[in-house]
Amino acid sequence: MIFTEQKPREEILGFLKGRGPVFIVGCSECATACHTGGEEEVRQMKGILEEQGIPVSGHCVPESPCVAANVKNALAGFAEEVKRSGAVLVMACGMGAQTVKDNLHANAVVVPCCNSMFPASLDAKGGFRQNCVLCGDCLLEASGTVCPLSLCPKGMLNGPCGGMTGGKCEVDPEKDCVWSLIYAELKKRGNLRFLNEIRKPRDYSLGFASLKAGKGVDHPAGLH
Ligand code: SF4
Ligand code: SF4
Repeated sequence: MIFTEQKPREEILGFLKGRGPVFIVGCSECATACHTGGEEEVRQMKGILEEQGIPVSGHCVPESPCVAANVKNALAGFAEEVKRSGAVLVMACGMGAQTVKDNLHANAVVVPCCNSMFPASLDAKGGFRQNCVLCGDCLLEASGTVCPLSLCPKGMLNGPCGGMTGGKCEVDPEKDCVWSLIYAELKKRGNLRFLNEIRKPRDYSLGFASLKAGKGVDHPAGLH
């Protein structure tokens, strides 16, 4: 999932100032889990905008899964409300905001409500964990399904740095060194031989790094 945070209230209000009625679009998946754009937060935002004298023309939270077809259907159900809006406030990640823009058949300006922070997994206690940085060349098989790139503060690829003490991380001694976890997992699997393989520096033309370099192109769906 994509972990999001709501932008500061003043920033959101600044985006909407003088645009006229606002239609709010939430998200039934990640932003619901993050409490940044689910049904409840959409209703709260409606109240906040109205308190500020900004009229709300309507709101919707497209059904799961989060795909363009569901966004399109949800917007179609509120075509009149959207048409008389000056802005559509999207309480979702940046991809959600752009999907709304691509499927909006009205002149309203699409305004983001949230900042997309990182890909995350949600643990059993409801905590968010950034355990993948979308490197584009997954090495989990060789690292016992523990990602050193996202979980080690130094992104060490070939074993622990010199600062590990008693299996703990020098950056955060409360945490286990990622490489001690990798070692334990590989040992359990009988795969310690992977530790003898020297990994080359990452190729930053792959994965998320390449997108950061402005190569955000459309990719065909499916396997390659
Ligand atoms: S190795 Fe790369 S793709 Fe695999 S979990 Fe780590 S960052 Fe994500
Ligand atoms: S002690 Fe381990 S987890 Fe911490 S920075 Fe060094 S290699 Fe990474």
